Amino acid sequence: MSMQMDGDAMEQQGAVPSQGSPVLPCAGCGGLVPDVSGPAHPYMQASPGCWQIYGGVVARWYADPLAGPAPWHHVDAYAVQHAGGAQHDRRQRQSVAVHLITLCSLLEFGQRPEAAAARRGRTSDVVLPRVGLSDWPYLEPPRRQGPVTIADLDGVRTTAEQESVAAAWFESAWAAWAEHHAVVRTWVRVLQEVHP
Ligand SMILES: [Zn+2]
Repeated sequence: MSMQMDGDAMEQQGAVPSQGSPVLPCAGCGGLVPDVSGPAHPYMQASPGCWQIYGGVVARWYADPLAGPAPWHHVDAYAVQHAGGAQHDRRQRQSVAVHLITLCSLLEFGQRPEAAAARRGRTSDVVLPRVGLSDWPYLEPPRRQGPVTIADLDGVRTTAEQESVAAAWFESAWAAWAEHHAVVRTWVRVLQEVHP
């Protein structure tokens, strides 16, 4: 009975903010974020409140770096969970493809975080000509971005918790793109041949 009531309360949280700052689901990742106005990313599709949370989390990680992939790969998870608008924007198509490739390198190909991040900027120059493309194709984003978003990292303070939630975030962001995993893996294999 009480479980049912908790569930109902959670379902209403996005639409009916209660006490404190109002929240809304981010237009990109769907995480519950503060309903604020302000700057957002020029082409990633993120609500200002989500962009604000992301900035805060990353600033904390720069000041007090975590072990593992989080400091190197937050941008990959964030980008692929805010992939809307890519059909109209070449930069967004490139962003989605390159960040999916980097996440896949990390999670499925056993690349060390530093190494996977270091080759991110060379990905387009290496892969596109070798697969006969002049530009990245449009990959239709998943309808659901996965259960873990940057909003789950807001307010997480202990190092161990941050590392484990960040790991779940990366897995969640990658898993949501299952429909495109096969093509992304072919691109990672091309990149591996040049930058093993
Ligand atoms: Zn978001």
